[in-house]
Amino acid sequence: MSKVLGIIGGGQLGMMLTEAAQNMKNEISKIIVLDPTENCPASKVGAEQIIADFKDESAIKKLSELSDIITYEIESGNSDVLKKLESNTEISPSPDTLKIIQDKLIQKQFLRDNDIPVADFKEICSKKELEVIADELGLPILLKTRRDAYDGRGNYKINSKSEIDDALDLFSGKSLMVEKFVKFEKEVSVIAARNTKGDIATYPVVENIHEKNILKMTIAPGRVSEKVKNKAEKIAEKTMKVLHGAGVFGIEMFVTNDDEILINEIAPRVHNSGHHTLQSSDTSQFEQHLRAILGMNLGNTSIKIPTIMYNILGPGTFQGEYNILCPKKENIFLKMYGKLQSKPQRKIGHVNITGHDNFGINELLNQVEDLKKNLVIEPKKT
Ligand code: AMP
Repeated sequence: MSKVLGIIGGGQLGMMLTEAAQNMKNEISKIIVLDPTENCPASKVGAEQIIADFKDESAIKKLSELSDIITYEIESGNSDVLKKLESNTEISPSPDTLKIIQDKLIQKQFLRDNDIPVADFKEICSKKELEVIADELGLPILLKTRRDAYDGRGNYKINSKSEIDDALDLFSGKSLMVEKFVKFEKEVSVIAARNTKGDIATYPVVENIHEKNILKMTIAPGRVSEKVKNKAEKIAEKTMKVLHGAGVFGIEMFVTNDDEILINEIAPRVHNSGHHTLQSSDTSQFEQHLRAILGMNLGNTSIKIPTIMYNILGPGTFQGEYNILCPKKENIFLKMYGKLQSKPQRKIGHVNITGHDNFGINELLNQVEDLKKNLVIEPKKT
């Protein structure tokens, strides 16, 4: 019997989940998203929308009454409310897992308690504690807000003790933690899935290039040694075994210059570094997530076509309606998110550039350089 799917969050991830769900008519009859932004991206491709804050208790209740199964595309939903609703509506991944992941400190403690490698960290409740830990860990360190931070917005890199006051002022009133600064060689991630039957599947490790803390580009497969690849995929599998709940998880990691791997962060949802799967794999991460939460067999995760995903971010200081000019080629797949307004550094779309066996990552990187020169976001002419 086909089900009504409720999604907390209707941004680009909710939009691409909606599109995947619309191709699974036997399993999913309707999609409803809860999102505060009127005409959110998911609503533009046919999802019904409840307009309310992600944490709004009565809106989440309403969503649960209207849905057979609830999932989310953001981790800042209200896990306590979801926990109360769990006995009436299926919720995947489980609210308990969401609760662990949405607090970076609890997430790191959970990983460390399960022998999964992470950078040294500590909870911070006072300036004194921060000064002591700065000596213990050695500078630089990263002060992080524990909740509701994304794209590095809740991070402050402290290079010298004289910056401690500024860092604490910036995050005044927030719960904080501190982490040793990892001098990583590369950032990589593994998109992993578990279905409700307990089957686990991981996509090959990919390489992520960030600029100003925001993902700029994902190279799939990642340019890492066989040893690093195996290690990363093993750590991802181990993580999936200890986390409860079904769905796709994005597991971000650092690779150090002596090939050590540390988990930076887990997202209990489809992830920006998995967008390449729309072209590179038989099963996109969006379809995989739905298969996982619906208890279907997981799809093939191999990367069939080397692909680079390039994020389109709102340029410069421009804010307003825009036109996009993107080169057209058979191996360039432009995906816009239906956001009317461009804002500086806002993710408004992405491009997947695909290769083939004789046309590997280096050639793709050249094509990305061409794309950067020719992709233009310009103010809309009235
Ligand atoms: P986050 O939002 O915490 O995932 O951090 C965003 C980005 O900040 C990451 O992708 C890294 O580039 C950087 N970052 C986060 N934590 C650390 C760390 N402990 N050491 C070095 N860089 C980090």
